Amino acid sequence: MAHIWVNDVLMNRAEASIDPEDRGYQFGDGVYEVVKVYEGNLFEMEAHIDRFYRSADELRIVIPYTKDVLHKMVYDIVEADQLQTGHVYMQITRGVAPRQHYFPDEASATFTAYTQVSERPYENFERGIKALLHEDIRWLRCDIKSLNLLGAVLAKQAAHEANCDEAILHRGDVVTEGSSSNVYGIKDGVMYTHPANNFILNGITRQVVLRCAEEIQLPVVEEAMTVEQLLAMDEVIYTSTGAEVTPIVQINEQLIHKGVRGEWTKKLQEVFESKVQAAITI
Ligand code: PMP
Repeated sequence: MAHIWVNDVLMNRAEASIDPEDRGYQFGDGVYEVVKVYEGNLFEMEAHIDRFYRSADELRIVIPYTKDVLHKMVYDIVEADQLQTGHVYMQITRGVAPRQHYFPDEASATFTAYTQVSERPYENFERGIKALLHEDIRWLRCDIKSLNLLGAVLAKQAAHEANCDEAILHRGDVVTEGSSSNVYGIKDGVMYTHPANNFILNGITRQVVLRCAEEIQLPVVEEAMTVEQLLAMDEVIYTSTGAEVTPIVQINEQLIHKGVRGEWTKKLQEVFESKVQAAITI
């Protein structure tokens, strides 16, 4: 039986309901997190929790639990659902109030969390994926993991219609990130990726991958690439909680690294895998 947290009540998912005047539903007024679970173990949970609190704080939404309590709640639902490999989705909204744009005087946040079974994309790790370039039309606070995802939804749909797995976003000439991932290029033994500022979400996987790069002595330059520079890279990668470290072997019509995974990518994947294995304790 699948469970869900609705505020501090763990219930059967079929019994949960959302008020139509919840501000998450009407305004996208909330934030979320997705945490990967490997063989029942939460991966990088502290980092996800920290980002969840930071995102909420930026929107002045108060999470009514301590970080430790939230951690335990997430752990408990993984246990209750006996989730092996998959992820936990959690979100918090500003709560239920009569519809008006400004913050209600009295509203208590609505928290929900549930688990989802999902397989690791092993085939993509090796074979790589195709990506489509797409203008980045999102707002200017992409560092907040907010529920407002229309810019990402439209870009991902365009990619999907072009038979691609991801959209690589660019503001004018400048490559920012993927529609739901971070993007990196490797050229002459140096890795480039957009700096963690308001134009991108600082992925938890990104933070792990930067540590992996250090371990294999792959220098990283946190500087944005232009579209032209991206297309001239030796290797291109994208990362996220779900995609982990996946090569991009074609962008629009152009092959990257002749359409096959590169050596640096493979090395990064190996170090990343060792961190996943280290997190598996049962
Ligand atoms: N950027 C955006 C826009 C995203 O939506 C995501 C995934 N939620 C990421 C980057 C990757 O973040 P993470 O590695 O924490 O999953």
